[in-house]
Amino acid sequence: MPFTPFHMGPGILIKAILQGSFSLMVFGWAQIIMDIQPLLVILTGEGALHGFSHTYIGASLLAIVAALSGKYLSESGLIFLGIAKKNNPIRIAWWIVFSSAFIGTFSHVFLDSIMHSDVEPFFPVNLENNMLGIITISQLHKFCLYSGLVGAGFYYVIQILINKQAKAANPNA
Ligand SMILES: [Zn+2]
Repeated sequence: MPFTPFHMGPGILIKAILQGSFSLMVFGWAQIIMDIQPLLVILTGEGALHGFSHTYIGASLLAIVAALSGKYLSESGLIFLGIAKKNNPIRIAWWIVFSSAFIGTFSHVFLDSIMHSDVEPFFPVNLENNMLGIITISQLHKFCLYSGLVGAGFYYVIQILINKQAKAANPNA
């Protein structure tokens, strides 16, 4: 991990760009699944901190886990957060579930490989981590934070424009 919530920043920016073609809930669920291994290692003091989960092969497997376990969980989450109504639930299409999960786990490995020397993103082909330190940890955290803030602003501006357009097209609605 960087602290898991930091991963949400770029996710919010991707949501702003892709809107309904991207599930931020599934993306967020994938972040949690990715950091189960480091969390267990921190709690038990055993094993490699990031290990297999933080390789692109591990991330591909965990993306499938996140997608299969995340679809219905995310649909319930949207109702819980009040974004969808119980009598009018949002169904997240499987292709969106899978692409959001893969974007989630791959971006996670990418960001973590910049700040953690023990991450081996290209295991077993290459054990070097040549992403390490391409930007400083403080720059990385700022990038995550600002991409979230910019993404949130951008998201709402686009939502307002979409609603305006819908109203213009159908003024009686
Ligand atoms: Zn991590």
